This record gives sequence, structure tokens and C-alpha cells, in this order.
Amino acid sequence: MSAALKTFRDFLYATMESCSPHYKDHHDHLLQLSKSSLQPTETCTHPKTFKAICVDCGQRMDDEYGVAFDYITEGLRFSNDEVSRLKRRNSEYLFSKEKLQLVLDLDHTLLHAAKLKRLTAEEMCIKNEEDSSEDISNISLFQLENGYLVKLRPYVRKFLQEASEMFEMYVYTMGSRTYAKQMGKLLDPEGKYFNSRLICRQDLERGMLRKTLNLVLGQENGIIILDDTELVWKNHSKNLIVVEKYNYFNEGKSGSMNPKSYSEKKTDESETNGVLKNLLKSLRKIHGLFFNNPACRDVRILLGKVRSEILKGCTLFFSSDVDDLCRFWNKAQMLGAECTIMLDSSSVTHVVSSNVGSNNSCRWAEEKKKFLVHPQWINAAYYYWCRQPEEEYFPVLSIEIRGLLLQAEELFSVRAIF
Ligand SMILES: [Mg+2]
Ligand SMILES: [Zn+2]
Repeated sequence: MSAALKTFRDFLYATMESCSPHYKDHHDHLLQLSKSSLQPTETCTHPKTFKAICVDCGQRMDDEYGVAFDYITEGLRFSNDEVSRLKRRNSEYLFSKEKLQLVLDLDHTLLHAAKLKRLTAEEMCIKNEEDSSEDISNISLFQLENGYLVKLRPYVRKFLQEASEMFEMYVYTMGSRTYAKQMGKLLDPEGKYFNSRLICRQDLERGMLRKTLNLVLGQENGIIILDDTELVWKNHSKNLIVVEKYNYFNEGKSGSMNPKSYSEKKTDESETNGVLKNLLKSLRKIHGLFFNNPACRDVRILLGKVRSEILKGCTLFFSSDVDDLCRFWNKAQMLGAECTIMLDSSSVTHVVSSNVGSNNSCRWAEEKKKFLVHPQWINAAYYYWCRQPEEEYFPVLSIEIRGLLLQAEELFSVRAIF
């Protein structure tokens, strides 16, 4: 083996170890093998190649051999067998440390990045409020040299810190490598959470519009995904927690049809009761169930189980004015509610309606003292993983009152209650 290749192999093992700490045992094993005068081409299974050369025996390989893992080191590829082995081995190691894996999307999940050019005049004001403090771990609004303004989601730093105690974490974005690294720096300035685990658009097979777990070094029974876009994870929907989109900037979508953005209203999602804080509670619960119950070590089953307890005991009747009925019906069922088409006072607990007074079922609900809720009540339970107070936050209002409230929101910058 050439000296250059040996040097690279040492470098690679050092890199691998920094992103996959148990890699060392494999390293030692290989060193043993190479000491015992390995006959390269006959016995080497070529588990990994660098720029098309087998790292262990130096044989020239096909450019497309195995699977590319450029996010670990540019030019690194593993054989399919090696990928399976690493996935298995990494999960074993993590489970022994009571850790699962968490795959995090960036845009609209952990942060919102917008081109400066597309901000409204009101939003341009906040740009000047950008913090210039030295310690970036306290800042949540950044202006980048490439003309982007980035707002981190409230609670994200605490979220990452707490989640890192239960999970090995990955970033998975459809953005470019440069973008992933830039955002990685903002979220994790000391490199404590992600290391090189930043998967981006360039890591996907050419033309792929979906994200897959192929490149995550772990078994799928231990991987939870957080993403605001459901569609890209079509093949892994059981691992997915859909996150409510974080839209901080308006991005030029102003007009009477679009509600004002957080930045225009000079407000933000709640830090103490926002999406990430609530999700953390659910993640903790799932993590606990996984390690306290060896009989069910599969997050895909546990996710479904925990979710189906959120609206357990509720029986929902949908009034005919609910748009997109199918979607709400399915969501309610995922949350453990029963859905019915019978207005039966012995079983129905909630009537779901968009407008009060528009139909008999609303009057029936009032008469029978049943909960009368807006469909957003289902969405809120879905995104917050928790049953929300009924009348308080999700009153069903007549169209006229809703219009007045929207006007009030415009005038006084108060947040409407639906
Ligand atoms: Mg996204
Ligand atoms: Zn080889």
C-alpha cells in the first residue's frame, strides 16, 4: 500500500471517528488485518473507497462503486454491505448509550431564511435591529453576506441542547452543501450537535426529489424525522413528525389576503409554549417508551401509539361546512379520535364546524352541551401533540365576527384567536 493511501486511511479513520465514535473498533480490526499481510485483491471486500480507490487495499474501483457519503468526506464511498454493517453497528452502539437518532429539516422547521430583496418595507426595519453581539449563541437573527436574512425559530437552541442528550442528530436539507454548513454554524456554533452530519441536496441521487434514510447511519426503528414538508418523506411517513411551518418573514406576499408575518407584527412564535418546546415533550416520551420497554423497540410503532392517545375518548361529528373534510377526518383519527356521521348524543363529544349558525349540527351541539370546535382545534393538537383547550382557543365564530376580528388584528397587531 502506498504511503499516500496510508496517510489518507489514517485521516479517514480520524474523520469517521469524529462522526461515528465507535468506528475505532473497526479501525483496530482492520489494522490487525493489514499487519497480517493481507492479500489485497483476493480477500479485501473493498468496504470503502476514496476517489475510486479502495482505502484498505489500494485497488482502483469503479467511480460509481457503492454509495457516496460526501457529507462525511468529499470523495468517500461505502460498499452496500458496509453501509448495512455501519447502520447496524451504529444503532447498537447508540442504543447501548440510550440514544436514538433525530433527523432535522432546516427551512421552516428550525429556521426561516429569506432573501433581503423580497422583504416588505416594514420587515426591512428589523434588519437594522440585527444583533451585533459577539456571542452568536445568543442571537436569533442573522444577516448573511449572500443577501439572506435568517431567523432561528424560538426555543431552537434549548431544543437542540436537550434533544442532543437523547439523540444523535442529523440536519437534512434540500438546500446546497454551502447552505447546510452555513446554517449548521448558526445553529451549532461550537459543533457540538451535528459534527459532519449535514446531509444536503448534493448527497441525493441525481434527480431525486425525495429525502431517504439511506444516508443516515442507523436502523430505521431508531430514527425520528422532524420536517414541515410531509411529501418529501413519502417512503418514511412512519418515522415522520410533521412540524407546523415556521414563517417569520412575509417574503413579499403582502396584501389583504395574507395575514401579516411575525416580523411585520414585531412578534414571534411563543418561546415557552411553541412548537419545538411541545415536540420536545413528545420526543422525551417516545425516547422513554423505547428504552423502558424492550418488547417494542421501534419508534415507528411508538410514534403512532403516542399520537393516537392525544384525542383518545373524543368522538367528532363534522358539520357540512368544513372544507377539506378528508384531511381533518384522517388527522383526527391519527390522533385517536373516533369520527362519525351520526349525530348521536350518547357518543358524540365534539361538533367540528367552521361557522356558527350555519347549520343544525351547531345548534344541536349547543343544545346538548357538546364541545363546538373549529377545525383548527384538530390541527393544533396535531402539531402540538397535545389536546388543546376547546372553547378558549378555538371558538366557532360567524363569518361576520371573524371578519371584524381580522380587521382588529390589522389595526392593533393583536393575534386573532383562531
Ligand atoms: Mg422545510
Ligand atoms: Zn480493497
